[in-house]
Amino acid sequence: MASKTILVWYRTDLRVHDHEPLSTAAVQFQSSSSQIIPVYCFDPRQFAQTSFGFPKTGAFRAQFLLESLTDLRRSLQSLHSDLILRQGRPEVVIPDLVKQLAVTDVYYHQEATAEELTVETALQEALERLGVAYTPFWGHTLFHPDDLPFLPHQLPELFTNFRKQVEAHSTVRPALSSPRPLPPLPAIDPGSLPSLADLGLNTPTTDDRAVLVFQGGETTGLARLHHYFWQQDHLRVYKETRNGMLGADYSSKFSPWLALGCLSPRHVYAQVQEYESQRIRNDSTYWLVFELLWRDYFRFIGVKHGIRMFRRSGLQGIDIPWKQDWPRFDRWREGCTGFPLVDANMRELAATGFMSNRGRQNVASFLTKNLGIDWRMGAEWFESQLLDYDVCSNWGNWNYTAGVGNDARGFRYFNILKQSKDYDPQGAYVKHWLPELSNVPSSKVHEPWKLLPVEQQRFGVRIGVDYPNPIVDLYQSAATNERVYKAAVNIER
Ligand SMILES: Cc1cc2nc3c(=O)[nH]c(=O)nc-3n(C[C@H](O)[C@H](O)[C@H](O)COP(=O)(O)OP(=O)(O)OC[C@H]3O[C@@H](n4cnc5c(N)ncnc54)[C@H](O)[C@@H]3O)c2cc1C
Repeated sequence: MASKTILVWYRTDLRVHDHEPLSTAAVQFQSSSSQIIPVYCFDPRQFAQTSFGFPKTGAFRAQFLLESLTDLRRSLQSLHSDLILRQGRPEVVIPDLVKQLAVTDVYYHQEATAEELTVETALQEALERLGVAYTPFWGHTLFHPDDLPFLPHQLPELFTNFRKQVEAHSTVRPALSSPRPLPPLPAIDPGSLPSLADLGLNTPTTDDRAVLVFQGGETTGLARLHHYFWQQDHLRVYKETRNGMLGADYSSKFSPWLALGCLSPRHVYAQVQEYESQRIRNDSTYWLVFELLWRDYFRFIGVKHGIRMFRRSGLQGIDIPWKQDWPRFDRWREGCTGFPLVDANMRELAATGFMSNRGRQNVASFLTKNLGIDWRMGAEWFESQLLDYDVCSNWGNWNYTAGVGNDARGFRYFNILKQSKDYDPQGAYVKHWLPELSNVPSSKVHEPWKLLPVEQQRFGVRIGVDYPNPIVDLYQSAATNERVYKAAVNIER
């Protein structure tokens, strides 16, 4: 086999374990002394603004990214290689490196959505002009698309149908182990990490109320898995605890590491299987894989529907007259709606970059079904703020919650008060994030607008001054938006 010079282009796959482009290149190194050049590009478009004017990558995620790259570089160095870091558009930077280092092949994990595919296409065209080969690999999901019992365009529109068919007919490929030593890089400046300031961002503040100190990198991602499964045995009860909102271990918190590819879903799956054989196999062990299937499903939905996922009318193409009401949107994102469950979650997101799944469902429902605000504003705010932002999981879930997604079941909304009482019966979560309500008794904390003046005095909070009055009437606003929604759906039919 002829010796090659292979450039491995890293993007949202910042790991060495279960990394097919790297492993494939390593095999070529073993068999034919091929060179391997791992590269990461800081693409300025990723640090620009979203269409509604938010930073596309907020400070929490940018910091997590820098930490993950530091860790990846360390791992590659320990394998005798290194990570080349560059700033610029990949379709320009990589062809430059190709020329400089006489690269013959470019390997990378392919993405699924429009912006990322545009970059891939531009790079492919540039490489074709140079006569350099490129090989895309698929590596972000549990199931490989070639192993699904349907073609991407035949993907079932209902999650349950997807799940049942996949569970019956598909198997997860084994995770690849980390490669053995790699060849050293040729003489080249490996480049250095930019600072947050270089990326136009401030250092995010730390808040000791956060569920976890999320530190980026494969090493910390694997350590989190070890902690959650093996040291603390939390997987055993995951299904019972996963709807929590307070504390480090109600759910796995794997999402930031999965989103940036520091953890491979196939590795998580292999560890679940190991856990099932060594400890216990129960509903909880099944449920963690079930949630990973949701993640797969949204990525395959992204492949099937392409740009529709980002359109106002969503996957279903329903033209709802959403409002772009900035004053109310600002109250939502700042956590000042007067509904403690919504406000606590939005303040947690702003302070830490994380929010539980229960919280995300509630705040997204409130924005769209109670405030009637354009769901894309919410999706872009999440894109900006979330540590674990994943294009398909975010936009897919927002489509779904706004009622414009493929699997949406008409106008379904979360009753914030019922949710508060079901998932935060003692008010511990809302008090954690809303100190102004900390002295209000649990029985009253979810409806502070009902406090009498004498109670407000006793509990040390003035409603309308220290904590806002409700922005809308919960039931009337839902009824109004339901009429709007149904009218739009009827026009489509
Ligand atoms: C409006 C909205 C936006 C969201 N945006 C994102 C996003 O940008 N990135 C993201 O990773 N998740 C997103 N989610 C899904 C979910 O809220 C998070 O994956 C989860 O809260 C992360 O916490 P965890 O890792 O502890 O989850 P766990 O409960 O421990 O689940 C394990 C893993 O399963 C996957 N998963 C769980 N639930 C979902 C789901 N509903 N959809 C897709 N994957 C899921 C995640 O990879 C998660 O890490 C969103 C959900 C909603 C309702």
